[in-house]
Amino acid sequence: MNCVLPIFPVADCQDSVLYAAPVHEVSICTAIAKIAHQAAAGRPVERVRVDVGHLRQVVPDTLCHCWEMVVFNTPLDGVPLEVSEIPAVIECRQCGARTQLDEPIFRCGSCGSTETSVMSGNELYVTSLDITADASGP
Ligand SMILES: [Zn+2]
Repeated sequence: MNCVLPIFPVADCQDSVLYAAPVHEVSICTAIAKIAHQAAAGRPVERVRVDVGHLRQVVPDTLCHCWEMVVFNTPLDGVPLEVSEIPAVIECRQCGARTQLDEPIFRCGSCGSTETSVMSGNELYVTSLDITADASGP
């Protein structure tokens, strides 16, 4: 089986561990780790914050669990991932009403029209990193 973590090859990449992880979340965490690694540019990272839209169908607990596995034995090992869920909101093109979606059913909650635009819910962003200041720097 190929290791699915091309960015940070995990030294002790156990098949049994990877089988337990949803591939979707693993690939997201791998991308987050790549972004955090590049943004930190070698400085120690204390925390990584991400916004995840509701329409991404990502479970925050699952994402954090995958994160711990993805960053295991990398410079980001032990760095907490803080997930903010962004609600899915659509705007109706008929009446202008905004509806927050619990299910991915794109129907206006006011007039029932299906002619809607997604206002939020597709987010998948690394919003910020906490990086340890280099107190001994020049
Ligand atoms: Zn409407």
